[in-house]
Amino acid sequence: MSRFLNNAFISLDAYTPGEQPRDKAYIKLNTNESPYPPSPETVKAVSSSEVCDLNLYPDPTCKELKQALADRYNLNENQVFVSNGSDDILNFAFLAFAGKGGKAYFPDISYGFYEVFCELHGVTANKIPLKQDFSICADDYFNKDGMVVIANPNAPTGLCLSLEEIESILDNNPDQVVVIDEAYVDFGGLSAVALIENHENLLVVQTFSKSRSMAGARLGFALGNKELIADLEKIKYSTNPYSINRLTLIAGVSAIKSDSYYMENCTKIIKTRDFVTKELRSEGFYVLPSSANFIFAKKDGIEGKRLYEALKEKGVLVRHFNKERISDFIRITIGTDAEMKSFLQIIKEICEEEVK
Ligand SMILES: *Cc1c(COP(=O)(O)O)cnc(C)c1O
Repeated sequence: MSRFLNNAFISLDAYTPGEQPRDKAYIKLNTNESPYPPSPETVKAVSSSEVCDLNLYPDPTCKELKQALADRYNLNENQVFVSNGSDDILNFAFLAFAGKGGKAYFPDISYGFYEVFCELHGVTANKIPLKQDFSICADDYFNKDGMVVIANPNAPTGLCLSLEEIESILDNNPDQVVVIDEAYVDFGGLSAVALIENHENLLVVQTFSKSRSMAGARLGFALGNKELIADLEKIKYSTNPYSINRLTLIAGVSAIKSDSYYMENCTKIIKTRDFVTKELRSEGFYVLPSSANFIFAKKDGIEGKRLYEALKEKGVLVRHFNKERISDFIRITIGTDAEMKSFLQIIKEICEEEVK
């Protein structure tokens, strides 16, 4: 840290992304990426001719991409916002709808970035404890005096709220924005998009990073009533109107056009997830019922950190959170069937070697 850093950021605790190792080839089950490549159409669309246009700025209105998303989700173009990953959009939402001196409410165990955005923008973070079984109690989010943010399915638990519960949270916060972060919704959750029509306070945030195999392209989108979207546009045009580059714009449009390819991949991942869940349970693991592309699991007799380390020694990367209530768990991204079979084999070895 230099002596020039603004006082406001001296104690800022930045987000720690999962490892992206360059040293050796791991079975990489640690950052919830898709194990499948983008569709052949997407690969073709990002062609050399588009690369040759990189001397020109991209379309700041992202018209084609917004149109494709609006068609896909039965909305109008002015109900769609796009930016450089959903983290970028969440950042804008904390700035626009909470801001300095404002408040935000989210579960104590959820996506770690929410807290960071609060610190960054001077928002008071109010963390509401999950229930004993790690589920969210909808009533805990009624009548709040600040923005409500819920990942559905939640991370890293993989557990879902029903649409009725989300609607009750919306109805009981008529004067607050409720952000539903649907990064994992394509893996078995129910989207709140249908509630936009009757709830002007709802902002649904999604990403191309997980179900659409484009974590490396950085593309996220938000859906909501046109005034909320206009607010986000205002922030985007006050920071970086060109936050989505030309290649990502092209890739995004083609990804929406090859929707069935991505939805089939989700079906495969769900099948693999349910298989791995069953196998781990028969190995004596406690596994939360996941609606996402990862599972959250623990086993008596071995600490989460040790399990993470033992897996890493044997070439498998998973994620461990050194945090109260969940430090015994590891989060395992669902890879291909072949990767998960290797993972299960290695887990068996570790259980034989390590579990007392
Ligand atoms: C992965 C993730 C994001 C971020 O996605 P990007 O679009 O890659 O920035 C947002 N929210 C949750 C809950 C996530 O797990």
